[in-house]
Amino acid sequence: MNVELNAEPRAVTRGLVRASYEAISLYSPNRAPCRIDLSDNTNLWGVPPSVRALLHSSADSAVTRYPRAYADDLKRAIGAYLGVAPEWVVTGCGSDDVLDSTLRAFTEPGETLAYPDPSFAMVETFARMNGLAPLPIPFTGDFDADADALLGSRAPVIYLCSPNNPTGTILDRRTVERIAREASGVVILDEAYAEFADGDCLDLLSKSDRLVITRTMSKAFGLAGLRVGYSVSAPNLAKEIEKSRGPYKVNSLAERAAVTALTEDRAWVAARVADARESRARLIAELVSRGFTPLSSQANFVLVPIPRAELVSVCLRERGVAVRPFVALRDIGDVIRITVGPWSMMEECLTALDEVQSCE
Ligand code: PMP
Repeated sequence: MNVELNAEPRAVTRGLVRASYEAISLYSPNRAPCRIDLSDNTNLWGVPPSVRALLHSSADSAVTRYPRAYADDLKRAIGAYLGVAPEWVVTGCGSDDVLDSTLRAFTEPGETLAYPDPSFAMVETFARMNGLAPLPIPFTGDFDADADALLGSRAPVIYLCSPNNPTGTILDRRTVERIAREASGVVILDEAYAEFADGDCLDLLSKSDRLVITRTMSKAFGLAGLRVGYSVSAPNLAKEIEKSRGPYKVNSLAERAAVTALTEDRAWVAARVADARESRARLIAELVSRGFTPLSSQANFVLVPIPRAELVSVCLRERGVAVRPFVALRDIGDVIRITVGPWSMMEECLTALDEVQSCE
């Protein structure tokens, strides 16, 4: 029988919904298709060749059977990639899933999540999803984390992001080291963009029993649509994150694709990262020559302060280029974030930006 249910919103029955969810709205970036999409920091050079071949040749059982409950093959491949034992790794449906699970694992509703601001916008949402009070703390003047204020919060979880989204800036590793050493609770270091940076903080795992580093296959590895992310932490923490994550979160095709990319296409990924770093430097130089003041970036995107960012992004979209606007970021103001891609895309973006600036 076919039931006709239309899209009209209905009044929600009183008492049915969780009161703390009233402050949460659905994630809704403008994802309308656009000729050149520079809005989501994915790999604009495409899919690793080994993954394309795998997706065309996967056996039916990858679809009909359940995946491995905790993605053991993938944990081994990630362990080999980073030089850690698989017991240190937790996988998830994107690093979003791992971040959310980590918050749930180490907090009770009503507690606090402290993090530098501005940072990854979803972190506030993950806090609220888990009944936590978000505590954004301004960066210091040079985009380093305010260690005194973060530690002083005594939050059960402190979230750090380096390179930071949306600024692209990195934290001073001495600050990360101090926070990981002195925090009373767990410290999450989100390294979603680590592959594009000059260095990372993985080695701090050997010095801290409370550090959880999260990474993703969505950025440098070009697999955002397959949703694979992971964390690395001491095994006793990893076990708790896995409990809160639950089984079967990485689907079979995604697990196989991620394993294939990690084992067969690391050279391809490294070459694309080199391309991205080159485009990034050229894009920043071009922006500076036009009088913009882009932030120094260690990620695959560049943040550009610009008045009326929302209007600018609409005008860029009309010219076939999508960027991500942010309005009134703390201490920075209005900005657009431009994902770095092949130089031909950057040229089109710059041309569109020139046009938008000249018609103001
Ligand atoms: N962390 C940061 C800093 C991000 O920018 C993103 C994606 N925008 C994520 C985590 C989540 O990525 P994914 O869920 O695709 O792994």
